[in-house]
Amino acid sequence: MDQEKQRRLRILPAVHEVISRLEQDDEFKPFLTNDRQLSRLTQAVRQVLQKARENVQLNLTDSFAAYEVALWPWLKTQLLQELTHRETSLRRVINGTGVVLHTNCGRALLAPEVASFVAEQAGRYSNLELNIVTGERGSRYVHVEALLCHLTGAEAAMVVNNNAAAVLLMMNTFAQGKDVIVSRGELVEVGGSFRIPEVLKAGGAKLVEVGTTNKTWLRDYEAAIGPETSVLLKVHTSNYRVEGFTHSVSGAELVELGETRGLPVMEDLGSGSFFDGTILGFPLEPTIQQTVKAGLSLVSFSGDKLLGGPQAGIIVGKQEYIKRLKANQLTRALRVDKLTLAALEGTLRLYKDGGVEDIPVWRMLSLSLDTLKSAAAELVEALQPNSAISVELKEDLSQVGGGAWPTVDLPTWVCTIRPIQGSVIELESFLRLGPVAILARIHKDRVLIDVRTLLSGDREDIIQRLGQLES
Ligand SMILES: *Cc1c(COP(=O)(O)O)cnc(C)c1O
Repeated sequence: MDQEKQRRLRILPAVHEVISRLEQDDEFKPFLTNDRQLSRLTQAVRQVLQKARENVQLNLTDSFAAYEVALWPWLKTQLLQELTHRETSLRRVINGTGVVLHTNCGRALLAPEVASFVAEQAGRYSNLELNIVTGERGSRYVHVEALLCHLTGAEAAMVVNNNAAAVLLMMNTFAQGKDVIVSRGELVEVGGSFRIPEVLKAGGAKLVEVGTTNKTWLRDYEAAIGPETSVLLKVHTSNYRVEGFTHSVSGAELVELGETRGLPVMEDLGSGSFFDGTILGFPLEPTIQQTVKAGLSLVSFSGDKLLGGPQAGIIVGKQEYIKRLKANQLTRALRVDKLTLAALEGTLRLYKDGGVEDIPVWRMLSLSLDTLKSAAAELVEALQPNSAISVELKEDLSQVGGGAWPTVDLPTWVCTIRPIQGSVIELESFLRLGPVAILARIHKDRVLIDVRTLLSGDREDIIQRLGQLES
């Protein structure tokens, strides 16, 4: 082994040295309150030191000087990560980013009463596929179908695993081996893995692009229709906007064209909302009901975006088309679990029975600036005595997220935190690596916590974590 490696290995501390140093460190106090924890810490120290030795062996370290300086902070970070990794892999996270539909944090939250309905259904037998009246086998979809028809005004409805599956199923059922016409302005990629051209291909359909990036006219669709055409597809440009000189063809116009040529028109609405966003000052976008009313054969949207329910792909439309989707073998492969159905039924009932303010997505989106300001001010006030940080109340912007209303910036209030010692990068990871992961935004030399997306109990955990910085 070369001398450089030897030298690096030699300065690694012994297990007992690390432990005694950690015993003086407030950050590690919560992990050192009893013997069981001490043995867990010892085990973690062994693991991390082993990892350090491996890094040296693999030549993954910097120059000796840089390695020496970074060694202790590195060991600490690794240990905290090791210790905060609880028994479960899925853990609670505090979302201080202000992104309401945060894809990395599970998108939409369920309303509390919906969550308890799901928990109840999870631990008990149910009539998932049982017709209680006749005692015969029933369909799992009946639990949400009538609700979906009632809320959207559609003739029929069904639910699959997610909206990507919904589009795949529609294409596979109606366009396999045939042409699908889509505007070049609507060939979207969402979240890096859902790409319209690829989903069409996976469904066995051939994409026929019409128009240009910024302008597509009805005559473009008309000219592209041929003997192989099976579907005219519209896709919501969820996560981007083309501004300036633009033109797109509405669903209603396409339906008119489809009728004269005997072709179904389908739309991937992406997020899809039962509400007109203008009530919150957002730009006008057609609601699910308006889209259905335009006469499209099928309309699909996500369950866990603006709807505020579980991950699901909802398809509504004409009875004859839904019937054919249900008969496709793929439907069995894309079917939803009972927990999804419970969450969806619960959420749809809130829309039907007037409990929308209990749906977290809508509650968070409609918080008033006054409410946000006083919540942020309370957090700032509670953190003021903390000598390790300097805090300020500031105005900022939240985001809807989830590819919905990408151009909307929601005015909000944040608590900004500057560390007295160390860098803002270190502070961000200190928050993220605590007993409960706290996600915050970094802006210049400060960490920002947006109160819009905080839930009850989150504030106390943030205060406690930052308290550990004081010594
Ligand atoms: C989000 C989105 C999808 C994918 O929906 P998932 O439910 O995440 O599968 C598909 N199309 C559009 C336009 C979207 O915005």
